[in-house]
Amino acid sequence: MSFKTLSKNYSVSPQLSFDDVRAAAAQGFKTIICNRPDGEEAEQPTAEAISAEASALGLGFAHIPVTSGAITKADVAAHAAALRDNPGPVLAFCRSGGRSTELWQRAQAQLAANAPVTDTVYDVIIVGGGSAGIAIATSLLKRQRSLNIAIIEPSNDHYYQPGWTMVGGGVFTPEITRRAESTVMPRGVTWLKAAASGFEPEHNRVLLADGRAVTYKMLVACPGIKLDWDAIPGLSEALGKNGVTSNYRYDLAPYTQQLVRETKDGRALFTQPPMPIKCAGAPQKAMYLSCHQWERGGTLRGTNVSFHNAGAVLFGVAHYVPALMNYVERYGINLKFESKLVAIDGARKVATFEQKQGDTVTRVEEPFDMIHVVPPQVAPDFIRTSPLAAPSGFIEVDEATLQHKRFSNIFALGDAAGTSNAKTAAAARKQAPVVAVNLLAAMAGKPLPAAYDGYGSCPLTVERGKIVLAEFGYGGKLLPSFPKWFNDGARPTSFAWFLKASMLPWIYWHGMLKGQEWLAKPKAAAHA
Ligand code: FAD
Repeated sequence: MSFKTLSKNYSVSPQLSFDDVRAAAAQGFKTIICNRPDGEEAEQPTAEAISAEASALGLGFAHIPVTSGAITKADVAAHAAALRDNPGPVLAFCRSGGRSTELWQRAQAQLAANAPVTDTVYDVIIVGGGSAGIAIATSLLKRQRSLNIAIIEPSNDHYYQPGWTMVGGGVFTPEITRRAESTVMPRGVTWLKAAASGFEPEHNRVLLADGRAVTYKMLVACPGIKLDWDAIPGLSEALGKNGVTSNYRYDLAPYTQQLVRETKDGRALFTQPPMPIKCAGAPQKAMYLSCHQWERGGTLRGTNVSFHNAGAVLFGVAHYVPALMNYVERYGINLKFESKLVAIDGARKVATFEQKQGDTVTRVEEPFDMIHVVPPQVAPDFIRTSPLAAPSGFIEVDEATLQHKRFSNIFALGDAAGTSNAKTAAAARKQAPVVAVNLLAAMAGKPLPAAYDGYGSCPLTVERGKIVLAEFGYGGKLLPSFPKWFNDGARPTSFAWFLKASMLPWIYWHGMLKGQEWLAKPKAAAHA
């Protein structure tokens, strides 16, 4: 069993066996925490038995059983106390490691209450160095080079996630979509290589998982969206084998392509969870590219393809649906609306769906040869449980100015923002200049001059060589970037494919991340 390291003092694991406890002791862990209630599964060792093994090896042990999806403040407080009171490094476990991860993330705010505060007060702290974080940093520096900016970002790697659809479709190699984070960090910015774990907006402070706290004048929060793989029992364990794949992970997108190549007949399932998700078209993009590959290889007829969509329509903006329906019919795809994936048994190759018909919900088992899963998506735990959160869990900002509704020196953009636009990198590209202009105005005590219109874009890869380019703003208002005669969203075009396959990666790395703001000039706010 390999343990997942979340900090130098804390790792998590799925259910431990006695051998795993001995391995943990050999690796230098000093305490084991069990977050699993006894009796969840028949063969599960009891917490008492694990405790006995741990103490025989001289390890500390705590049992803090919690229920998946129902973790309470008291559970978090108990976990924080166990972390404070026991020697580290600590290894915590539950069924998959998910609950132990969530408890740790939520305990950070309590653990950091007495954290040492660094001396520097940054002009701007940006939480998250993904698409939105790097774009906003460069947009700010372009306007005011002298700003003292820090980006809090724990990852060594930066990803161009829109490229993962093309990896799954066999068009891009994975390497095209990944660069070292250090290479995208703008010059002059301080990279705080740590995870943010909480916020104290009343003290202008961000808490870090490594125990520090950092202070800002202005804060921009953009740590993305959480892919909740553990919300579907059996999924985490099944991914990457037995025909279970997802383009939503860098390491798995190549497996999608492998499965498409290997599938010559049988049953192929594609799933879409409830909204919100990042790139709402990506579940379908994976399916159309797979179908086109089977069509070209002459194996589509023998392959039974189904699209299980938790939603009730094929695409949220009706304008694009007829063009997509042409492809559904051409590829012979069975559409299953209001059909939500709720469990996967990788070994048996069976997926379970909850299917709604009127007021009736039925559980249906579907065997598969391959399944492409898009996981449910929620606000990151440390955002959802913070004072910045709206009831949705995402950051409560004004839809137009992107300023926080309760804290005027805080802004948010990207997937973590509680706005109703399509969560896409294209949206972040348009949001970054708006936030830059408004943040600098707020800093100077002036009215906010810029407004975001909800622009998001979804290039739907309906076949290799053609794309239905959906571009729309708040309320589904069509916002095309190109003249109708050049690119009509109601029809697939080779131009849009050329844009996605040849232009957009370059525009991303050399334009968006460098503050170029092509086709992204901020619009004036209504009052400005
Ligand atoms: P991210 O780019 O995900 O960045 C979030 C950053 O925050 C990460 O670097 C992460 O490490 C960091 N972070 C996380 N937790 C913490 C923490 N505790 N403290 C500090 N930092 C933290 N968009 C399009 O425009 N077009 C497309 O065609 C398209 N296709 C897609 C296809 C797929 C398969 C996927 C997965 C996404 C696609 N997207 C597409 C969506 C697009 O990638 C996202 O909307 C975009 O990356 C959002 O930017 P972000 O900065 O908000 O989040």
